[in-house]
Amino acid sequence: MQKIGVIGGGTMGSGIAEVAAKNGVDTVVVEVDPATAEAAQSRLEKSAARAVERNKMTQEECDALLGKLAFTTTFEDLADADLVVEAVVEIPEVKFEIFRTLDSIVKPEGILASNTSSIPIVEIGAVTERQEQVLGMHFFNPATVQPLVELIYSQKTSEETMTKVHDFCVDTLGKSPIRTGDRAGFVVNRLLVPYLLQAMEMFDRGQATKEDIDAGMRGGCAHPMGPLELSDLIGLDTMLLVAEVLYDEFKEKLYAPPAVLKRMVAAGELGRKSGKGFYDYS
Ligand code: NAD
Repeated sequence: MQKIGVIGGGTMGSGIAEVAAKNGVDTVVVEVDPATAEAAQSRLEKSAARAVERNKMTQEECDALLGKLAFTTTFEDLADADLVVEAVVEIPEVKFEIFRTLDSIVKPEGILASNTSSIPIVEIGAVTERQEQVLGMHFFNPATVQPLVELIYSQKTSEETMTKVHDFCVDTLGKSPIRTGDRAGFVVNRLLVPYLLQAMEMFDRGQATKEDIDAGMRGGCAHPMGPLELSDLIGLDTMLLVAEVLYDEFKEKLYAPPAVLKRMVAAGELGRKSGKGFYDYS
């Protein structure tokens, strides 16, 4: 893969673009308007500069990385892309519209991927004429640091597509991909979310303090963070959304959002991003 496109230069898109450019891939980031494209460019330049400050990259490597990046508002710039990774807001209709556009512009052999956390890949692929070349590429935040990429295949995704993207992740991006079928939560969130919800319920019922719950999992299971700290970091609104998607699909009580989570989100307590969650960050 010589050239990739990234749709959306937000939290995930800018991280994905940085990883690709750092590894020598020509990378074009598409944003909605010039101001947002400029903001994405500046976010990425700052992130690369920070890596130089922390001795994670030399100035020459940083210059080479920035030289591999382009920012645009024009989808037509992706006509010759080998792979496009979409990372825009988690709203199905917005993603469907983008995939229709990409399908009409990107060369026929180009592969189209979505970084969606919850929308079925089969539904995204169905709006295109190339369903066998559509897959999920679920990067983790921050994409520059986290080694995992979940590669999601629908019933329509071809083995050739999965192998090409798997090899690109390993050989070019230096990531550690895993494969998963197209079920809500994929592998990681399907396992992680019930655990986080249980910790919330345990706290709400007064079984243990939040500090002790978190200390229990750090000290007993060598987790770098306890479940309530981690929920605050993810954002309690995001937690609620993901739990609802999982519950909708599996209808199992272990995915049902607990009352405490609903109460906190309704009160605007969203975790770190609002300054208050299970802990106070103000
Ligand atoms: P974000 O809001 O930070 O960024 C989205 C970007 O997409 C924005 O910059 C926005 O301007 C741009 N955008 C919106 N519509 C567009 C369009 N039509 N064309 C081009 N650009 C457009 O969102 P994010 O947190 O980076 O999430 C993006 C995707 O990644 C979502 O599907 C989310 O579920 C998934 N995801 C997020 C995380 C996370 O921790 N944030 C982790 C894994 C996956």
